[in-house]
Amino acid sequence: MSGEGADQGDKFVDMVSAKVKVDLRLSDYEPRTQLKLVAHEIRQPRFPVIDFHCHLDAQSPQTVLGVMDACGVERIVNITMRTGQAAIESIDRFHGAAPDRFSTIGWMDWSGIERSDFTQLSLDRLQRLVERGVSGIKFWKDLGLTVRDAGGALLRIDDERLAPIFDKAAELDIPVMFHTADPDAFFTPIDQYNERYEELAAHPDWSFYGLPVTKAALLEQRDRVIARHPRTTFVGAHLAGSSEDLCRVANLLERHPNLYVDISARTAELGRQPYTAREFFIRFADRILFGTDLVPEVAMYRLHYRFLETADEYFEYPSHASRQGRWNIYGLFLPADVLEKLYRGNALKLLRANSR
Ligand SMILES: [Zn+2]
Repeated sequence: MSGEGADQGDKFVDMVSAKVKVDLRLSDYEPRTQLKLVAHEIRQPRFPVIDFHCHLDAQSPQTVLGVMDACGVERIVNITMRTGQAAIESIDRFHGAAPDRFSTIGWMDWSGIERSDFTQLSLDRLQRLVERGVSGIKFWKDLGLTVRDAGGALLRIDDERLAPIFDKAAELDIPVMFHTADPDAFFTPIDQYNERYEELAAHPDWSFYGLPVTKAALLEQRDRVIARHPRTTFVGAHLAGSSEDLCRVANLLERHPNLYVDISARTAELGRQPYTAREFFIRFADRILFGTDLVPEVAMYRLHYRFLETADEYFEYPSHASRQGRWNIYGLFLPADVLEKLYRGNALKLLRANSR
């Protein structure tokens, strides 16, 4: 090259190779899409909805019923986060207000774990909860991560001392819900590569990076329990903890006919992989439960219906105040028979098992 061209560079090459460091603060960056798209508001779901994953302890039954009536929610399963007498009060408050609109899943009570008769104590507690009307028992992510036994050792999810509880659930005909681990991003450093950086910056205590237990190890412990108790029905909350890897969830569902999963708090993940997600929902239509894990609000439910029923593109996912990541979602336009099972049919199978 010689002459003018070499001195001035090439306009096209300059254009395609231009890079710049910007110092706009991430918190101040609020891009607005210029896409002109069709947007549908789905005011009522195609079929009545059972929300299988909600936490209502702080809510008033009457207020929640108002929301449910406004947007076609037939029943909410309240996963009480209380234990002991406080749990009983929560159960009575909701079942007393509208027994045909509320069900309850109990919360595993770790108090007394230092006692030598803790397993029997837990069996008695479970029996009492079921007599009071609960439709399931939930083991939260603290199991495997922070719950410690009398000797101070981390209690593994597949610890044999817990096995009688899972068998008892089968005997009582109630499902065991596991919320195990958390999004993959919570197990990686909170740095510029973390896809949920802003959320974790707001809640650094949600990060499990650097703990001695890996996410893979936690999921393996839980999977072993599901395999060891084929007569017990399990619900893997939040897509069994693997919404970033629906292949893993599919394998798990294939291997274990006693497993269901709920979709709560994972529309952000599902809606950014709409082709994979749609195929997954259709393939496992009999095993997926609708759930939200958010404060019941009309707009929140309608956003879920839009996601599941329409082919709308690139819209905000339902979320709590600190959003999960900087992306938008795409509707799955699920077929009617799949929607019916997801919204209602599969939940009824689990709730009917013990006729509640
Ligand atoms: Zn939850």
